[in-house]
Amino acid sequence: MPERLLYNLTFDEFAAWMNKHGEKPFHARQVFEWAYRHNAASFEDMTNLSKELRLDLAETFRVGPLQPAAVSAGAEATKLLLNLPHEKGGSVECVRIRMGNTYTACLSTQIGCNVRCTFCATGQQQCERNLSVGEILLQLISLRAKGLTGEEPATADEPFYPVSNVVFMGMGEPFHNYPGTVAAVRMLTDKRAFGMSPSRITVSTSGVVPMIRRYTQEGLRTELTISLNASNDEVRQRLMPGASKWPLSEVVAACKEYSEATGGQPVTFAYVIIEGVNDLLDHTRELGKLLRHQPHHVNVIPLNPVSHANLRAPSKERINAFIHHCRQFGLNVSLRHSKGVEIDAACGQLRARRQG
Ligand code: SAH
Ligand code: SF4
Repeated sequence: MPERLLYNLTFDEFAAWMNKHGEKPFHARQVFEWAYRHNAASFEDMTNLSKELRLDLAETFRVGPLQPAAVSAGAEATKLLLNLPHEKGGSVECVRIRMGNTYTACLSTQIGCNVRCTFCATGQQQCERNLSVGEILLQLISLRAKGLTGEEPATADEPFYPVSNVVFMGMGEPFHNYPGTVAAVRMLTDKRAFGMSPSRITVSTSGVVPMIRRYTQEGLRTELTISLNASNDEVRQRLMPGASKWPLSEVVAACKEYSEATGGQPVTFAYVIIEGVNDLLDHTRELGKLLRHQPHHVNVIPLNPVSHANLRAPSKERINAFIHHCRQFGLNVSLRHSKGVEIDAACGQLRARRQG
């Protein structure tokens, strides 16, 4: 199969390719419908196209899900490790999380991550490269495909897993791969491709201030999450060395602009809580002050155990006390349990384990 991913092309780029090959724009629409609406496994499956066109396309482009190199399945989440069909190779993780009758897909944007968060498995792996838009979307295509992982077979009623939400919370810092991330969001919301509402897409960032500002200008109006994890710059420097270039005050100022540009939409602040590091009463006071004028939602996430660092989550009582104090300081806060502790769902953990 050719290496060139169909998913790397916008609709206009693909329509231009078709035009150059003497095909009507109408057929470009049909191919996109098969690829994105039906999660087609091959060009062969695109039965309303001529045999000739299907063969032409199959010689040029790669389409369809990847067979995962490893699968880790739990009750609520399934994680895939994908070996990418790229000249430079590389593997990434992505996760499908059950949300009632539909699913959320968690996608990676880079191989490794240079933010180097001490509590994160991905942060221990230096960033090898950015993923292309096609490689980001290929994760979603692979997560939607049924029958790859020996779980559920495809049925006439449900030929693929219905993924209603996408979060950019896998490996990598989305705003260190700004072009790939933005192009992926555009394809997710493009009605000729995935056709999702931006309100069902969440971009999560460690807080790359200039890129938050640039993203605001794009007007894409997705949900925005900041991995805050600290209430002051000193703790943040310790936990997230590569993110501390921008002081928290500036991160929050950039979030405020995002909220204002999106009609007052709150920004979510993720707070991985770690015993003795960021779980003190003083921290709740600082958080209250930091977010006082910002439409926000704070998600407290108990640390998933990581093998490389001597860190652990506080006790339940301590976490509850932390949340209680946050509320007293006026914060809108809730506890979020990771849905995939048993499958190493925190980003980068499956890949880290495979590589020893
Ligand atoms: N780099 C971006 C996108 C990845 S999101 C970002 O950090 O926002 C990955 C999420 O998983 C982050 O919110 C991070 O704080 C969280 N995470 C990483 N390691 C974790 C662990 N050991 N336990 C719980 N959450 C973790
Ligand atoms: Fe990178 Fe996010 Fe992991 Fe930090 S938490 S190392 S920013 S992927």
